[in-house]
Order: sequence, then structure tokens, then C-alpha cells
Amino acid sequence: MKQGTGRMFERILVANRGEIACRVMRSARALGVEVVAVHSDADRDAAHVAMADRAVHIGGSAPAESYLRGDRIIAAALETGAEAVHPGYGFLSENPDFVEAVEAAGLVFIGPPASAIRAMGLKDAAKRLKQEAGVPVVPGYHGADQDAGLLAREAEAIGYPVLIKAVAGGGGKGMRLVERPRDFAEALDSARSEARGAFGNADVLIEKYVQKPRHIELQVFGDGSRAVHLFERDCSLQRRHQKVIEEAPAPGMTPEMRDAMGDAAVRAAEAIGYRGAGTVEFIVDGSGGLRPDGFWFMEMNTRLQVEHPVTEAVTGIDLVEWQLRVAAGEGLPARQEDLAITGHSFEARLYAEDVPKGFLPATGRLSHLAFPAGARADSGVRAGDEISPFYDPMIAKIITHGPSRAVALRRLSRALEGTQVAGTVTNLAFLGALARHEGFAAGDVDTGLIGRDIDRLVVAPAPGAEAAALAALAGLSLLEAAPPEAGFVLWQPLERGLRLVHAGEEIALRLRTLSSDAHDILVDGVWVAARRVAGQWRLDGQPAPGVAVDGRVITVFAQYGLSFELVDPLARVGAAWGDPALVEAPMPGLVKAVHARAGQAVAKGDRLAVLEAMKMEHSLLAASDGVVAEVLVQAGDQVSAGAALVRLEVET
Ligand code: ADP
Ligand code: ADP
Ligand code: MG
Repeated sequence: MKQGTGRMFERILVANRGEIACRVMRSARALGVEVVAVHSDADRDAAHVAMADRAVHIGGSAPAESYLRGDRIIAAALETGAEAVHPGYGFLSENPDFVEAVEAAGLVFIGPPASAIRAMGLKDAAKRLKQEAGVPVVPGYHGADQDAGLLAREAEAIGYPVLIKAVAGGGGKGMRLVERPRDFAEALDSARSEARGAFGNADVLIEKYVQKPRHIELQVFGDGSRAVHLFERDCSLQRRHQKVIEEAPAPGMTPEMRDAMGDAAVRAAEAIGYRGAGTVEFIVDGSGGLRPDGFWFMEMNTRLQVEHPVTEAVTGIDLVEWQLRVAAGEGLPARQEDLAITGHSFEARLYAEDVPKGFLPATGRLSHLAFPAGARADSGVRAGDEISPFYDPMIAKIITHGPSRAVALRRLSRALEGTQVAGTVTNLAFLGALARHEGFAAGDVDTGLIGRDIDRLVVAPAPGAEAAALAALAGLSLLEAAPPEAGFVLWQPLERGLRLVHAGEEIALRLRTLSSDAHDILVDGVWVAARRVAGQWRLDGQPAPGVAVDGRVITVFAQYGLSFELVDPLARVGAAWGDPALVEAPMPGLVKAVHARAGQAVAKGDRLAVLEAMKMEHSLLAASDGVVAEVLVQAGDQVSAGAALVRLEVET
């Protein structure tokens, strides 16, 4: 085992990407440590690369060609003179062979010894070990014999309902809840095949399924012999065994239960000579409140966890700083009695995913990304970055802190409302609905909460008339400071129709322009008055929300983000604009070119003129075959909406 000397590193390499790479770099920087990034093809221009002092390209976009290539990562560290490697989470962070290779190359691994990772790597062996160390484990079968008949008999003996788990499992994969004996055989088959596919190991264990389960985990920190704990996190808000919102401390936690869980977690860490940051996960029976005898060891994660910021918020400790100091050989930075909890903290995981479509991971270029003040936002992407299909679609973690749970939760709710993402669908509205859920607000959490209320939580918000009106004004570039149509006669009321598409549905609007500071917009039979007062737009007297325009896509930052597409009015020439013999300007603009000559025969679809409007050029096409009878404009003319540009002689 290679360990530091107590002198802080000059330079480290971060073997990860995205938010965690950026997160680690921030703390390293603050300690005066230089950072080397590694990156794949897809991440050439990624935020973590831009942030680093140096960056090394290590291979293709697929993780197997880059972030999982331990050999290339080690070569990059040696070549750049890095002394230590921080693995982040995921990828190689819990791979004991990688740890050994790092150490064999004379580098320090910022994390636990390979032996500790190996001991905790398989859930069954980890449970046996913890049991011996006096840590309560969930009653169940953790044996090597994997005979289906034996497993079924063990399930009977444990008592239904039971949980089948892949011993090599993670991220909720290879797990099956079985309610009745007659469903056991089929559940076993499907758990095994999923585990074989995901982990290359089909072995399972069987556990008592805890009723009204709560997931409470303890943050631990070791120096290789001694360990301390940094209290608990409650991660009970889960969807399909995956964490969605986490908090610290756990609602309803008592001093007795916290002491009992803390002692068990420290025992669990010390039993394996743990060094660095780790998490001991417990399953808790929440049916009768929290009791010191109602928790059981589930697994140990031998890395920094995604949700570590809530612990940082309530303890005031920078866990990455601790990781670096302990890896450098400094010893534990604090004693147990020096540690305390201040206030309450929440973290919500913001993902690019399509919630109404079953939480499907989404991709896209983030045309706009902004986080509100008053919350910590850990992100690995910036406006302009791509959410690619190669990696986890997490956009950010939004973390709030407050003196009480109620205040921290209100701050989370406000922070989610103030988060602005354009360019991809997100789970923001879902997170917002959770933050406003009464049961959650009351601290009545268990892992079934989301599942029970899923229908209510995934409802997509229907846009109000104001949002559609604002999208129309933004799409027509009418929100900008200078009147965009100045230079030609406008200030007699100008009326035009336009269409927007939201969530696949068309919305027809009428826009009546009174001045550059005043428009009335008719949406679904309701008139919305848009007025600019002292440079600020107001809709029916209320301040207008923020808006981002990316080509024809307009995102209004209300109701967690509403995306509209402006229907190209020119796609409707002839159909929506009446007389097929007249080519009219569908909106005000500048005639860029005229291609039609009087007397010329034209075919349907021929380009007759080009109009520049809404910062784009639009071709005006012949709506039918015919002969040009009259050209009414020339290049350079400013025209208003509805102006006739070319008249055709059409055979009828
Ligand atoms: P648990 O293992 O208890 O579910 P987490 O929720 O912290 O713990 O993480 C889930 C798993 O997915 C972990 O193995 C973690 O390393 C990985 N993971 C989560 N988010 C990301 C991400 N953005 N990038 C890479 N890996 C991730
Ligand atoms: P993973 O490695 O996939 O994170 P875990 O063993 O940590 O697997 O379990 C993931 C989640 O499954 C837990 O957070 C909890 O919601 C649920 N779970 C696990 N074990 C039990 C159990 N015995 N009873 C009830 N729920 C459980
Ligand atoms: Mg887990």
C-alpha cells in the first residue's frame, strides 16, 4: 500500500469527467494543488478539460475506450508528473485492480486500499464480514450455494416478502422484490440474467424485505486504522432503487439511533482498515419510527458518493479536501467529538430525461443554463455543451442549506423554480413536484413514496396563456430593447396570426402590435396584454419570466421551463395565407432578393423572393404553377406583414 508523506501533493490527476471531476478540481485548486484532466473524444471541449491546468486525451468516446482505460490514465499521470490519482465516483473508483496498478506505478490512489474495496465489492462477502464485526445485517441468505431449490427454501425460511439481490449489484440492477412463493422462480431467473448482463456475475443473495423501508447511510472517513463518521444522509426518496433527492440529517433521527448507527458504521470501516471517504448504507424499518434496533447493514460504497454535498453543507467540511489530506498521509483532520451538525441540507439530482416518457435519458445541446443564487449547483456542463449519449445524463446537483428542514426545503423549492435549462428536456418539474409534496415536507419518507404518487408527480405542466404570449413575442424578436421594425410605418395597429407548438400540440395566436412597447396577444380566446414598463416586460401587469431563444425554439422559464417551437409561417404559403396567386410577406421584414420577373413561367415551389425577418432568411415560394403577372417590390424594400410581393397568373 502506497501512502503519502504528509506533504500535500503538487499535482494530481482526476480520472473522471463531468460534475465530479469539476468538483474535485475545485478543492484541489483551493489547496494549491495543480490538476491534470483526462478526456475522451466527446469531451474534448468539456468543462472539466477547460478547468484543468493540463488535459490529456486518452481515447474514444465510449467509456471502455477512455475513462475505463486504467493503463492510459496511469500513463497520463506519469507523463504529466502527477503524484496522485483521484478516481471520482463511477468508472474506476471501485476497481481494486486499478488501485494496485496505480500504486505499482509509484502513484498514490486517493481512496481506500485495494483490500478494502475487494472486501466490500461483493454484497454477500461484505455482509458476512460486517456480521463478524458486530454490525447488524438484514436477515437473509448470503451463501455460496446457488441452487435454485435451496434459494427458494431459504426464502421461505426468511419469510415473504423477500428481496433477491445480485451479489455484484449496484445502481439497483439485478434486484427483485418477491411477494409470494409462487413468483420466486421467475423472479430469480430474471434477476440472474440481469446480473449476468450488467456485472458478469449471476450470483444472488436473499434478504428479508424491510417494510416501509428507509435508506439511511453514514458518511465515514478513515486513516487506515481509525475512523470517524460524519453523521447520516437520508436517501429514501428513490425511483426504482435510484436516489432522486437526498438530505441530511435524517428526518426523525434521535440521538440514540444516531449513536447506534454511527458506532456501527465506524466499526464497519475500522474492521477493514478503511482509509479515505466511504459510505455505509443501512436499510431502516420506518414503520414504527426510528429505533436503535431497527437498522441493518446493506452495503458499503468505497468512494465519495454522489450525494456527499449534503454532508458538507451540515458539517462545514470539504470532503475532497479531507480526501487529499488523508491520501497525502496527514491523518484524520478531526476527532469525532469535534464534529457537529448545523441545520439541514437537501440535494436534488437534475437530469436530462423525459419524465412523461418513462424517465427516458435525453440528449441535446444546452442552449442556455443558469442556476439561481442561494443554492450550491455542482455541474459539469455549461451553456453550449452537449449532453451526449455516451455518459450519465446528469446536468447538475442542486444543494440547499438552511437552519431547519422546512427552510432548507423551501430554499430547494425556490432554487428548482429558478433553475433555467434550455435545449433538452429535464426532470426539473418532477423535482419541483417532489419538493412541494406534503408527505415529503412532513418528513414522512420511505422508499415507496415516489412510486405511490408517481402519477401525480410526473404531470407535465400545461403552459398558461402568458407563457405562450411571451414565447410569441420572443420568437418574433419583439422583446429586444430597440423596436425591431423601426424604419417603416408600423404604428397603426398591426395584426398577424402565428402558431406555436408545445408538447406536440399547436397553439394558434393573434398578435396585435400597438407600439414597440405594447402588444396584445390572443391565446385560446384570452387576450394577454404585454407592456414594457421602464425597460421590463409585464404580462397583464405581472413581471414576465425569463426567456431563451435558440433559432425557432423558445424556452420560457416559468413552470420549470416551457419549450415552444415557432411554426414557420412560410411552410404554409398558399394554404394558410389565402390567395395562391399572391405571394405575401407573412411577417414584417426586409426583401433581400427578388428572383421573379414579369412574364416568367414558374412552377409550384419555385423561389420567387427572399425575405429577411426574425434574423433569418426565408424563401418565398410559388404556391402553384403559373406566370408572374406583376412584381410589386424590389430588393432592399422594408415590407409589413401581409404586403403583396409578387402576383401570379394562375390557371384555374
Ligand atoms: P448507490 O450505489 O448507493 O446507488 P449513488 O446513488 O451515489 O450510490 O450512485 C449510483 C451509482 O451510479 C454509483 O455506482 C455511482 O458511482 C454511479 N453514478 C451516479 N451518477 C453518476 C454520474 N453522473 N457519472 C458516473 N457515474 C455515476
Ligand atoms: P445498490 O448496490 O443497487 O445500490 P443496495 O443494496 O444499496 O443496492 O439497495 C438499493 C436500494 O434498494 C436501497 O436504497 C433500498 O431502497 C432498497 N433495498 C435494499 N435492500 C432492501 C431491503 N432489504 N428491504 C427493503 N428495501 C431494500
Ligand atoms: Mg446502494
